[in-house]
Amino acid sequence: MTNYTKIIDYRSDTVTKPTPEMRQAMFEAKVGDDVFGEDLEMLELEKTAAEMLGKQSALFVPSGTFGNQLAFLTHCRHGDEMIISDASHPVQYEAGAAAVIAGVQLRTIRNPEREWISWDEIETLIRKTEDIHFPKTGLIEIQNTLGNGTVMPLDTMSEIKQNAEKYAIPVHLDGARIFNAAVALNVDVKELAKHADSVMFCLSKGLCAPIGSMLAGTSEFIQKARKNRKLMGGGMRQVGILAAPGLIALKKMSKRLSEDHENAKKLALILSKFDIFDIKPEEVQSNIFFLRFKSKKSNIAELFIEKMKSNNILLTPPRYGACRFVTHFDISKEDILRTEMVLDKIVKELMSQV
Ligand SMILES: *Cc1c(COP(=O)(O)O)cnc(C)c1O
Repeated sequence: MTNYTKIIDYRSDTVTKPTPEMRQAMFEAKVGDDVFGEDLEMLELEKTAAEMLGKQSALFVPSGTFGNQLAFLTHCRHGDEMIISDASHPVQYEAGAAAVIAGVQLRTIRNPEREWISWDEIETLIRKTEDIHFPKTGLIEIQNTLGNGTVMPLDTMSEIKQNAEKYAIPVHLDGARIFNAAVALNVDVKELAKHADSVMFCLSKGLCAPIGSMLAGTSEFIQKARKNRKLMGGGMRQVGILAAPGLIALKKMSKRLSEDHENAKKLALILSKFDIFDIKPEEVQSNIFFLRFKSKKSNIAELFIEKMKSNNILLTPPRYGACRFVTHFDISKEDILRTEMVLDKIVKELMSQV
């Protein structure tokens, strides 16, 4: 056990590196000036992404944060209000960008029981009358999968989209892990995308591309977004070297995500055998889950993470006393078994300390 040197990295699926096939494709990419619309590899990626999502058009952006913020800027005017979950990525992890770039006011819905927001919660916050005091409701933002790895039900998405149309308010889907959501719901990714006017998803997470995300929507919306991307400094030149691995991410890596979900479930089951952990494996839906502790000792999560680290297993610092596990392409079935062996050892140590 001591000579086992591979690091098992559960911190995030963003740690995945481009596969050898991706590196070869990067080497061979047919590049051109993409701001002039001459990068053949990128034209192919944008066409493929749009087709797979069932949207008219798609645009490559440097990151998921860029894609979300570009969508807000393109849908809204300064001073508009956007309805969004308090647990959402733009509220929690995008450095306040919505206030800086799109200049929108975030009207948040707080629901600690579940991270997704329902139509009933949204409707109460919509500005329904014209009044000189009121901002305009410019956008509704939803997310799938959610930060805790659970999935928003399709009928909730559909209800939001249909009702938002009655108020002529667009819906943006933060689908950073939309392919994971599609696998978890056992539907084609189009079935999720159709419930939103614009969709952002990441190529660089579980899909293993080194850099990049896509924003998809109508041709008119993407044309506007392309100009705004330029404004934000996101017009890139021979970007085909990133489109080439992106195409492999879309066509090939999106088809294997169920393995990551199975590994997450298996790992959760293993963890549930230990008395000190508070976890329900049946609630694990995708490649992300949180582990809680039954002990009230305040530093137990930190202790656990430290012990895992000294056995070459990496986790991010705890959030509200819970540890996040993320499975991905670089986590194999053998790694799950190796984690079980490490747990057998360190849980005993932990028990003696708490
Ligand atoms: C990762 C993530 C983003 C942002 O992507 P970056 O490429 O890290 O900027 C946005 N939304 C969700 C839900 C994410 O998980």
